[in-house]
Amino acid sequence: MLTSVQNNIRITAKRLGLNSRQIEEILKVEATHSFKITLDNKKQYNAYRIQHSSARGPYKGGIRFHPEINEDEVQALATLMSLKTAAVNIPLGGAKGGVEVDTRNLNMSELEELSRKYVRILAPFIGPKKDIPAPDVNTNPKIIDWMVDEYSRLTGDTTKASFTGKSLTNGGSEGRDAATGRGGVIVLKTLLDLSHDLNYNKALTFAVQGFGNVGSYFAEIASKNYPNWKMVAATDSSGGIYEKGGLKSSELSEWKRRGKKLLDYDSNNKISNSDLFGLDVDVIVFAAMGGILNEDNQHIIKAKYVLELANGPILSSVEGALKNRGIIVIPDILANAGGVIVSYLEWIQNLQNEHWDEDIVNKKLKDYLVVATKDIYRRAKKDRTSLKDAAFAVAIERILKAKQA
Ligand code: GLU
Repeated sequence: MLTSVQNNIRITAKRLGLNSRQIEEILKVEATHSFKITLDNKKQYNAYRIQHSSARGPYKGGIRFHPEINEDEVQALATLMSLKTAAVNIPLGGAKGGVEVDTRNLNMSELEELSRKYVRILAPFIGPKKDIPAPDVNTNPKIIDWMVDEYSRLTGDTTKASFTGKSLTNGGSEGRDAATGRGGVIVLKTLLDLSHDLNYNKALTFAVQGFGNVGSYFAEIASKNYPNWKMVAATDSSGGIYEKGGLKSSELSEWKRRGKKLLDYDSNNKISNSDLFGLDVDVIVFAAMGGILNEDNQHIIKAKYVLELANGPILSSVEGALKNRGIIVIPDILANAGGVIVSYLEWIQNLQNEHWDEDIVNKKLKDYLVVATKDIYRRAKKDRTSLKDAAFAVAIERILKAKQA
């Protein structure tokens, strides 16, 4: 994934005429914190916080708990965060954290201990004006609440602006939970409007790979706002279901919220993740993990649009092949930026000691994303490049400008 992200940066930067020193400037990380967390039961876990760029503002980015996380992947994700905050023009930098852990093997008090110890080690390097972490894969408001509490105990900070993605009763923002999914809907709709491409007054069909928190909000908000957008398939890690006439996103979300697998959902038409890749739908949504579309499976894709709601689901090595087949990739640093935008809004609310209504938050989220989508769409048209290349171009130029200022 790191190679993939860095390739994308190199390709775009070269096209923009940047010299090798400038390219290295964009690629390099400012600080790497790599450490071990030892629980009272003596079990040890590898942990990271990689701070990629603070050129445009304090570091920003989630913390991921995952059994296969490693330093390279955290660096890739940190780099994507710097590009993401720049692409949507919020005054923040980029960072990412990770702990190599399978949370299914921890009980609640071990999870709390792990979360608090992570903060204890990192406390000198994070904070409201330095680095503001947030949830990511397998982390949630409950974990973030422990982390904020730990940070406040250690430093005396009372703003709660040290982390975003907190629970609503603990300084969290309205709309933060749904923000990444909602953002994906806004970006897709704005692009369809700009390109007058799909006649979505007829039924637009979509399939969601990775029907978890982000994917289910995407599906629910899409079907609520645009009843003629029809979700025909959804999968999670167990597999999933296909229904030509359309699936009920709210029922599926409820099923998942109860901790159940999609494969166990009552349906006659079970599919695997790879079946979903090959479905003849208008839009395929990747909402799970990175690096899932590669040389081996890219040829199966039939969809016209691929929406990257996860971070880095498509390897840069297959983007050319998709483009040649006329498949449009809506890049992660735009498509999934809704989460970090509402994180930014949460941070502002904390610093100003305010709590905004959900309508206000959603309106601001939409404003940021519509402007960013237009910027990137127009840039792609002007430079005759893919949307991914255009998003990277816009972001790289903003980061460089800040570095030179
Ligand atoms: N983890 C999310 C992302 O990858 C959100 C980060 C944030 O809110 O800081 O964009």
